[in-house]
Amino acid sequence: MSAAVMEQTLEHLKSLRLYKMVERLEGLLDEAAKGEWSYADVVSRLVEEQALARRDKGIAMRTAVARFPYLKTLESFDFKFQPSVDQKRIKELALCHFIEHGENVIFLGPPGVGKTHLAISLAIKAIQAGYRVLFSSAQNLLTNLSKAHQEGRLEEKLKQYGMAKLLVIDEIGYIPIERSGANLFFQLVSRRYEKGAMILTSNQSFTKWGEVFGDPVIATAILDRLLHHSTVLNIKGESYRLREKKKAGFWEEKAEKEEA
Ligand code: ADP
Ligand code: MG
Repeated sequence: MSAAVMEQTLEHLKSLRLYKMVERLEGLLDEAAKGEWSYADVVSRLVEEQALARRDKGIAMRTAVARFPYLKTLESFDFKFQPSVDQKRIKELALCHFIEHGENVIFLGPPGVGKTHLAISLAIKAIQAGYRVLFSSAQNLLTNLSKAHQEGRLEEKLKQYGMAKLLVIDEIGYIPIERSGANLFFQLVSRRYEKGAMILTSNQSFTKWGEVFGDPVIATAILDRLLHHSTVLNIKGESYRLREKKKAGFWEEKAEKEEA
């Protein structure tokens, strides 16, 4: 390829935003000139590297936009430690069919059993599969909805939450929700019903949601919609955090001091 043709080709690739190809074109052509690769190999390799780079960039962008508190993977979840979590069901959920169908996944269980870890891991699988995801604690979500409501921007905010194909709402039940908050939550759930998937986590069983939402009627209406198309995973077992503390010998020591 003459220098002028090369320059022009690189300009075209830049204008098409095919930056990986810009970066790799000359190097790959050198390989071909050495006779190690055919030109067909060069083209196929160029296109493949560009496609992978674009995919990785998309994943990185969607991960940043999702606002996870931290990243956790399914691969780092120790299923042996938490036998009440059905690994087969989690693997099935990781295929993301529930997102395509606008269904919900609800993790219930006491603190430290891995609810948030599993929620984030599944959300990352969704991002890798190309879905837009948004993560929020229940508290943050309600603060944002209430603020938007007061400022007359509720519709806009609900739309914003609606744009994510998967909405993760973490820690329902840690902090009691006021009646006005429960109403806003109901609106959000109704809006997403059968359209947008959700993953929710809660330390409170559904029978306690009347208290959580400060009104059994709204709680029932919320649960009615949430549970219609859903997978509920009840995690029973020991806290992973405490196990780690126990291993480090911190927990007994502290517990003994508190007893004394
Ligand atoms: P929860 O949301 O149920 O309170 P988390 O998901 O926040 O619990 O888990 C607490 C900590 O323990 C996190 O750092 C999480 O990554 C870790 N953890 C919990 N369960 C497991 C597990 N089975 N395997 C590996 N790490 C775990
Ligand atoms: Mg949690």
